[in-house]
Amino acid sequence: MNIPPRITVIGTGYLGATQAVCMAHLGYEVVAVDVDPAKVAALASGKLPFFEPALDTLLVETLATGRLRFTTDFDLAAEFGDVHFICVGTPQSSGSDAADLRYVDAAFGELARRVTRKALLVGKSTVPVGTADRLAERIVELSPAGAELELAWNPEFLREGFAVEDTLRPDRLVFGVRSAWAEQMLRAAYSPLLAAGTPVVVADPATAELVKVAANSFLATKISFINAMAEVCEAAGADVSLLAKALSYDDRIGGRFLKPGLGFGGGCLPKDIRAFRARAEELGVSAAVAFLHEVDQINLRRRSRTVDLVRELAGRSLQGVRVAALGAAFKPDSDDVRDAPALDVARLLYLEGASVVVYDPQANANAHRAYPDLDYADTLGEAVDGADVVVLLTEWAEFVTADPEDMGVLVAQRRIVDGRGALDVARYRAAGWEYRALGRPAEV
Ligand code: NAD
Repeated sequence: MNIPPRITVIGTGYLGATQAVCMAHLGYEVVAVDVDPAKVAALASGKLPFFEPALDTLLVETLATGRLRFTTDFDLAAEFGDVHFICVGTPQSSGSDAADLRYVDAAFGELARRVTRKALLVGKSTVPVGTADRLAERIVELSPAGAELELAWNPEFLREGFAVEDTLRPDRLVFGVRSAWAEQMLRAAYSPLLAAGTPVVVADPATAELVKVAANSFLATKISFINAMAEVCEAAGADVSLLAKALSYDDRIGGRFLKPGLGFGGGCLPKDIRAFRARAEELGVSAAVAFLHEVDQINLRRRSRTVDLVRELAGRSLQGVRVAALGAAFKPDSDDVRDAPALDVARLLYLEGASVVVYDPQANANAHRAYPDLDYADTLGEAVDGADVVVLLTEWAEFVTADPEDMGVLVAQRRIVDGRGALDVARYRAAGWEYRALGRPAEV
């Protein structure tokens, strides 16, 4: 098709807001819909309701072009779009490991009931394999006469903290389609990226759905692999940081995602590997991904091990011990605290009676909403002031580059647990700090 397709984006969270802004930046006309009126109002006025580097300025720039609109009006979206990207959340169900698909079902339903012409509904949310086929049948049932709706799946691989870069220059695009027309529509919707040479894998929708959960399972496994080695190192008196370094020179292994530490969290990896196991069980292939249970358990054990290190450094029970918890977000350059290891460690310390003060450069507000009982500081200095133990939980640049001498003046005791293996141990030791890290002997 020569005229660029008109785009809608349904759901304007981390993924959808990025998709909408980047599509408008690439030159498309975009209508973005969310059920949350406060979020829509904020976005429409150029305010990003979450922290994501570069997206805030790109939002303002693209709004100024007039190509991007935010609304709660599904009728407008249904009438407007040739290609509808569905980007709503798929959290873990409460009470089970399975994905909660109610938002995806609702979003597809809202469109299917309204669209009266030929259009492509494209799922971008991460879903259990088989969801697209189920929804394709449902759409037919819900569609008014005359509508010609087709469904495709186009999983998303962006990383929070790099969302704009990953959307404008993705490693690859995956199109899960059932017809040449659907492929052609997706090619038209991504034509600037394809012209720039982005590789595309064209597959059936089930394979496309699986690519995303397989990728996340692999990444989670790589992280938990090195953290399992950290556990062995702890028992054997070996040093996992040197082990990881030595492994990383092997091209077949590589050093990325091989950093020992507090492990993974966030709104994707933990719930995606759990949902994958739940779906595999339904498909009768639970043995094939049973290892993901261990991946999850290794990851969770790093949190309690970090608490052990704080206790060991304090030299006594944590009752009344003043701990500075540096970080709350699940990773740096994000304000996302969903299943954040940092916040979980802060909570565990608090439950053991420690007096915990949390500081995160961007995530304090979200962390406070999730755990109002913890104390929060507005600055790094305020957090470490009078601390008996400092624990690094999210490797923000502000923490990694902090001067151990300056921090040493503020704390009650120069003791630090490096939960991310990110600090310069020699500098800390030289400044008189007792330093402990996961997977490394105390004397290193
Ligand atoms: P999010 O919670 O930040 O955003 C979801 C948005 O959908 C919210 O704004 C919510 O109000 C809206 N919504 C819910 N129901 C709706 C409906 N019926 N109609 C319109 N809007 C509705 O979630 P997210 O982090 O953006 O993730 C969305 C999906 O993308 C998930 O499946 C996730 O696994 C996947 N994903 C996320 C990332 C990431 O880094 N965040 C990366 C790749 C894939």
